[in-house]
Amino acid sequence: MKALVKRHRKPGLWLEQVPMPEIGINDVLIKVDRTGICGTDVHIYTWDSWAQKTIPVPMVVGHEFVGEIVDVGSNVVDFSAGDVVSGEGHVVCGRCRNCMAGRRHLCNDTKGIGVNRPGAFAEYIALPVTNVWKHDQNIDRDIAAIFDPYGNAVHTALSFEILGEDVLITGAGPIGCMAAAVAKHAGARHVVLTDVNPWRLELGAKLGATRTVDVREENLSDIQRELGMKEGFNVGLEMSGNPSAFRDMLSQMCHGGKIAMLGIPSEDMAIDWNTVVFNMLTIKGIYGREMYDTWYQMTMMLQCGLDLSPIVTHRFDFQDFEKGFDVMMSGQSGKVILNWSN
Ligand code: NAD
Ligand code: ZN
Repeated sequence: MKALVKRHRKPGLWLEQVPMPEIGINDVLIKVDRTGICGTDVHIYTWDSWAQKTIPVPMVVGHEFVGEIVDVGSNVVDFSAGDVVSGEGHVVCGRCRNCMAGRRHLCNDTKGIGVNRPGAFAEYIALPVTNVWKHDQNIDRDIAAIFDPYGNAVHTALSFEILGEDVLITGAGPIGCMAAAVAKHAGARHVVLTDVNPWRLELGAKLGATRTVDVREENLSDIQRELGMKEGFNVGLEMSGNPSAFRDMLSQMCHGGKIAMLGIPSEDMAIDWNTVVFNMLTIKGIYGREMYDTWYQMTMMLQCGLDLSPIVTHRFDFQDFEKGFDVMMSGQSGKVILNWSN
């Protein structure tokens, strides 16, 4: 089969012929239909310092996908050929304390698809049946392909009560924009979305941000006054990984404000801890998606009318993957889909 492989320890990916994956008794074999390019894939493509110390080479990359089951292992009774599924990107051990307690997103020994084990940028992928989510029939295939980052957005946005609350989202990347859509759908009052990229702020406004802010030109204290807010944002969703965005967020929260932090800072980051202590802020780190409560919420919100369609801005055939990565790196994109069914 064909697959996108990190073959050499240098920038790029290579479209190659690789052996078909084999399935064990508890696995399913999936024919990949569409995939999404994630920021992680871009790190692997450009071969930055994180990728250099994390990715064993060679490796089939990619983890955002939708496809159809074509074969199941002998122990698998509840899935069959033709089921449309996506894979949870973290394959968990199933045996550690957290896994045994049903908190699989907190597994002590998680393996990343397309990072630590063969990924989804391929014609086929094999996964344990416990790692796949069967899609509702009516879910659009492009959206099904990006359930992984949509799940990051949902996991973060629904970490704290947001009904009627004022929400600040820093970072209008694909995940920040989807989080704006989710926050609005879940009943937030003001959804203020910041970035330093006007193209992405426009995308965020299409998805549901009620006020977008280019922080190079406007400051959040003025925005609070403009919106008639008196005590600060109730909930913060950090989705930029940028230290100054996070520091700004801390200073804009109400007393007792709650912050869910998804963005990954690239280095140590100093903050004013006095603000955290005296204002009694809660800061919660967010990793991945809850298996499978987040997936359930994602499906239900789509069924209840959440429209994420503007987030998919580009589509390419897998042979044109380089164009897809170029668009991702331009900063002028939402999600970029690669089609494997042509
Ligand atoms: P992205 O890099 O596409 O988006 C980040 C955005 O932040 C960009 O649009 C950038 O212009 C913006 N930004 C930069 N400086 C800013 C500033 N000072 N103020 C406001 N915005 C600023 O990333 P993404 O794919 O949308 O993911 C969002 C973040 O979540 C990234 O940091 C990513 O690494 C992280 N992530 C975490 C997990 C997890 O499980 N914790 C999973 C996926 C992604
Ligand atoms: Zn585990």
